[in-house]
Amino acid sequence: MKAAVIHEHGDLDVLRVEDIEEPRPGPGEVILKVLCAGLNHLDLWVRKGRPRAQLQTSHVLGSDAVGTVSAVGEGVESPKVGEQVILNPALSCGHCEFCLRGEQSTCVSFGIMGLSRSGTFAEQVAVPAGNCYPRPSLLSDEEAGTFALAHVTAWRMLMTRAQLKPGETVLIHGIGGGAALAALQFAKLVGAEVFVTSSSDDKLSRAGKLGADHTLNYERENVAEWIAHETSGRGVDVAFDAVGAATWPLDFACVRKGGRVVLCGVTTGSKAESDLRTLYWNQLTILGSTMGSAEDFRQMLRAVTVNQLKPVVDRVYRLARVRDAMERMETGKQFGKIAIRVSQ
Ligand SMILES: [Zn+2]
Repeated sequence: MKAAVIHEHGDLDVLRVEDIEEPRPGPGEVILKVLCAGLNHLDLWVRKGRPRAQLQTSHVLGSDAVGTVSAVGEGVESPKVGEQVILNPALSCGHCEFCLRGEQSTCVSFGIMGLSRSGTFAEQVAVPAGNCYPRPSLLSDEEAGTFALAHVTAWRMLMTRAQLKPGETVLIHGIGGGAALAALQFAKLVGAEVFVTSSSDDKLSRAGKLGADHTLNYERENVAEWIAHETSGRGVDVAFDAVGAATWPLDFACVRKGGRVVLCGVTTGSKAESDLRTLYWNQLTILGSTMGSAEDFRQMLRAVTVNQLKPVVDRVYRLARVRDAMERMETGKQFGKIAIRVSQ
């Protein structure tokens, strides 16, 4: 079968689409015939070797997918052969103290599809049966196959960690990425007032159409001054950060006294300075967040389904063109999720 694999870490050239052996389902696993998969920043990090992925001889990238169950392993009662499912890409052991508490994303051996085991950029993939959820019927293949990782990340950040409330204000940096757009959808669902930034007027205009209340081009104007002006010097309740080093000082400058800063990613770098005086004087709460628990995933999926939320899809590439897809993500031009069409 065809798959997008790496044999070593490095730049785009290490990414190959080649024939590899078809997977067989282990106990508790199912085989998915992948229809559509989704690209995440994680795939770039794994390819580059940060964080260090456990490279198999040929490591298949990809965390998100929608697919049809084509075989089931020993002991699997659900899902059944022929069902269409989406994946929760979070892998956990199921028996450590954190898993037993239902906090799977702090599992001592937490992993992610495409990082700690073979991923979804393949015609078939073996996955734990417990990670399969019924495909939301209103979504296209491209939407269903790309939203899970970004949406569960944004859900946990805003709902579980920052506990965003109706009427609160939230600042989302760099609108256009999957997690930032999911955060915009969820913040509006809650009834929050949303501030978004970008260096692209086009992305800001599209974010406005999706419900963003305030938009700012950070290349032309100062974000901290803008927030101070718009909130009469108060600051926002929550800063949502999937950007990292470039925006971290802004988080501290833009949240109100007693505000919350929640971070899930570092696309601009992982080393940043913090003004500790601001931290204690303004009594800030800093929240780290990674993907989500099984309960976060269930809640997120219900929210998407019940409210008929449509994940934003940027472009669709065939599996053979996965390199072009990755190149687009690396340039940061995308608005929404980049989909990989694997089969019809
Ligand atoms: Zn565990």
